[in-house]
Amino acid sequence: MATIEHWIDGGSVAGSGTRRGAVFNPATGEQQHEVVLAAQEDVDAAVASAKTAFETWSQASLSKRTKVLFAFRQLVHDNIGRLAEAISDEHGKVLSDAAGEVQRGLEVIEFACGIPQLLKGSYSDQASTGVDVFSFREPLGVVAGITPFNFPVMVPMWMHPVAIACGNTFVHKPSERDPSAANLVAELWKQAGLPDGVFTVLHGDKLAVDALIDHPDVAAISFVGSTPIAKYIHGRATANGKRVQALGGAKNHAIILPDADLSFAADQLSAAAFGSAGERCMAISAAVAVGDAGDRITELVRQRAESVVVGSGRDPRSEMGPVVTAAAQQRIESLISSGEAQGAKVLTDGRGLRVDGFEKGFFVGPTVIDQVTTSMDVYTEEIFGPVLSVVRADDVDSAIALINSNPYGNGTAIFTSSGEAARRFQRGVRVGMIGINVPIPVPMAYYSFGGWKDSLFGDHHIHGPEGINFYTRGKVVTSRWPHQTTTPDASLQFPTA
Ligand code: NAD
Repeated sequence: MATIEHWIDGGSVAGSGTRRGAVFNPATGEQQHEVVLAAQEDVDAAVASAKTAFETWSQASLSKRTKVLFAFRQLVHDNIGRLAEAISDEHGKVLSDAAGEVQRGLEVIEFACGIPQLLKGSYSDQASTGVDVFSFREPLGVVAGITPFNFPVMVPMWMHPVAIACGNTFVHKPSERDPSAANLVAELWKQAGLPDGVFTVLHGDKLAVDALIDHPDVAAISFVGSTPIAKYIHGRATANGKRVQALGGAKNHAIILPDADLSFAADQLSAAAFGSAGERCMAISAAVAVGDAGDRITELVRQRAESVVVGSGRDPRSEMGPVVTAAAQQRIESLISSGEAQGAKVLTDGRGLRVDGFEKGFFVGPTVIDQVTTSMDVYTEEIFGPVLSVVRADDVDSAIALINSNPYGNGTAIFTSSGEAARRFQRGVRVGMIGINVPIPVPMAYYSFGGWKDSLFGDHHIHGPEGINFYTRGKVVTSRWPHQTTTPDASLQFPTA
């Protein structure tokens, strides 16, 4: 069994921590690796290395940084298959989906390749007589990224290409459930010519996270994960004076209006609910069926759910793999049972699914639950599994009101052929990312990704322009090069133009 080690100062390091985490293959249900879990001294060593590297990397020219980014972009592109296999073997998602995740991460690297343009400041000539004003942005220092299990390559790539392009050094604390991909990424950064210490991987659990958010030499924290941890990290790290963006969990609703192409909507809903076994923060987990669309869309989605091929992520016939751990499997199944006990109707039941040849795998089949109300656990909890709940609404306004009364505000979608209804929806919902006949509206890398309400704590969304702002701080310079004969005498009055 391989031991996955930290990546500090440009190489693998076992560190001084003696604790280990078990890494499973969710398809077989068997442990395949162990991962080192950092002790305080390992966190200190990782941050010290990143701090030293910042001294030179923050001074590297834009041209040098761009060269490294372009090389890294090519290497990630050339290694999509290898990265996808590492993801699939530890997360469980099917290979094509894992490759799609790497592709979306690659797009953030491509965005970051434009760093000379993105960091351009502004200049006002002759703002006052003989006075020019200009602005520019500087990196923060050592920044840390703490990431969830569900996108072990893409979510960290929302952070590190942008942070590093801006001149910071980056310490990545991946999920301990699927840690291998982070080390592959570290190798690719090194091959791309990134100096040692600029990108660090620190494996660990709560101890490592707490040590990072308390560390005086860490300037900023990017976090993506569940809402309770996002809230905790935001509170504790901001109290420590750090800049924080903490993206949390979700309950994403899709409204289906009677005027929608229901067959199209059912295909899209099924893909958005069951893709990656529902373990996406942008998965649709609640369908809000309006008026007489209700019974028709529910029946069409039930048919789609029953045709999804579930199997090992490595099997090219599989459309959906297992969930990440045995604990996740049990939690999802018990939430389905709670829905049933509270009066909902389980139309397609994914509990107890066994896959031939993978009997110990952590599989849950696609599940459709009808007649769900907003007080049921199956609605109030983020299930994070392949479960679609159908709730009913009388009209578009009550559907929007239902979405707005949910504490989460990550993503949402509407299926309709009415531009007027779509516009009312896009302006009325209190949600950060909105799809119109697009079920998973993940913004392109050159926009910023982020939810509202309990789906994001902090002021900055991630990647895109807000990512550049998050990883830099601004300076404004007011300058005068006086000509001896024309410069007015200094005055105690407040300077005016
Ligand atoms: P998680 O919150 O359990 O873990 C995320 C990270 O926090 C991991 O690195 C983990 O080691 C660390 N962590 C866990 N418990 C901790 C604690 N008590 N103290 C300090 N650190 C702790 O999340 P997960 O189960 O890995 O991922 C799934 C969650 O992430 C879902 O809620 C999903 O919606 C969310 N997510 C959100 C987005 C988004 O963009 N908003 C994207 C992906 C995933």
